[in-house]
Amino acid sequence: MAQIHKKVSAKNALADLKNWLSEVIFQAQSAKTPIQILGSLEAEGLYFDHAWVLGINADFLPAGLNSPRFIPANIAAEHQIPHSNFELINADAAHTLSNLINLADEVICSYSKSDLQGEKHPSPLLEFDEKISPPASKQQVVELENIADEQGLRLENHQVSGGVNILKDQMACAFKGFVQRLNITNFDTPHIGLNRLQQGEIIHQILEQIYQQISTHAELQNYSENQLDNLLKTLTEQALKPYPHSGFITIELARVRQLLHQFLTLEKRREGFEVVETEQVLEANIAGLRFNIRLDRVDNVAGGRIIFDYKTGTLPSNPWCGAAIKEPQLPIYALKTAVDGVAFAQISAQKIGYIGLAKDQDLLPNKTKQQQSCEAWDEQLSLWQQRLEQASLDYQSGRAEVLPTKGACVFCKYSALCRIEFA
Ligand code: SF4
Repeated sequence: MAQIHKKVSAKNALADLKNWLSEVIFQAQSAKTPIQILGSLEAEGLYFDHAWVLGINADFLPAGLNSPRFIPANIAAEHQIPHSNFELINADAAHTLSNLINLADEVICSYSKSDLQGEKHPSPLLEFDEKISPPASKQQVVELENIADEQGLRLENHQVSGGVNILKDQMACAFKGFVQRLNITNFDTPHIGLNRLQQGEIIHQILEQIYQQISTHAELQNYSENQLDNLLKTLTEQALKPYPHSGFITIELARVRQLLHQFLTLEKRREGFEVVETEQVLEANIAGLRFNIRLDRVDNVAGGRIIFDYKTGTLPSNPWCGAAIKEPQLPIYALKTAVDGVAFAQISAQKIGYIGLAKDQDLLPNKTKQQQSCEAWDEQLSLWQQRLEQASLDYQSGRAEVLPTKGACVFCKYSALCRIEFA
């Protein structure tokens, strides 16, 4: 300040400083690996490590003449109205060019040879090197190589997590089965209230407790409607206790009680049975692949033993007897434990009922829905054995073709990975 003033008061010095600082152009703060894209006016007065000025075309530098319509030429010249005469245009172009080529130690300037309007020319104020030399490439050109990706590596660890769903996926589409090896994190899609898995677990938990208290058909018959209702109320409240109280939980409480009441009413209509196992954990070994499996329930009935699996969601058509077993858990249990039949107990808003297959139809509850394309029980058991073992061997060998069976892609999450094209 001493260069400007001999003597200055603190107040004036501060005012002068504020004034000067407001006129200084500060470079915008940028990220650690900054590339700033600016217009030529914004870049004026700034300095960069490197700069590339694009679009130095003849229509940009120098700018065209633009005489104001209602201002006489001498007045426009006197007041230095931009682009109003050639001297001003020349001075302006020289100033802009000087700013642009001083943006960095090394500045690259380029122009476009054409745009949507047609051919374009470079600015006459610069000489451009018309020869374009291709950038030196460090990569070597190699021939494209085709890799067969339908076969992965052999599996080494034969104790698998993911349960029987691995075999289910392998049979539905070999690639879908192979993906189980990749340990892909499953994202829990946001939902309101309880999700399907939690709803299913609650029903399983309540039924397990009911059949630990009531183990025979005769005992169930002795329960009046009121007693059953009270039991269901207590067990449902207990099962939902860990979840924070909300309107959704109140609705779920009523829904579960109603569903289970309907199911137990159906159970009462069955012939005599005795529940001999609930939620039993077993280890299954299918052609060398070891899984832990959990049986929902095993009933002794007159003349045999039936395994039940509770299903709270929808069931596919023909779950057991197609070339690909769509629901392999019951066939695996049937092969693992000596039983005479298998059945899904379907407990959902759409349906309360049974779907089953047995050595003798009379072993299953009344009105059990039959499978159309199944063989006789013993023959079906050996078909299951063959198909499950083949799926297990395919999984272990790393078979991974993108070859879905009908409907396999409908709820599959891996379409981005397998790159299948849907018509
Ligand atoms: S989307 Fe279809 S083809 Fe792709 S992995 Fe899933 S089931 Fe297989």
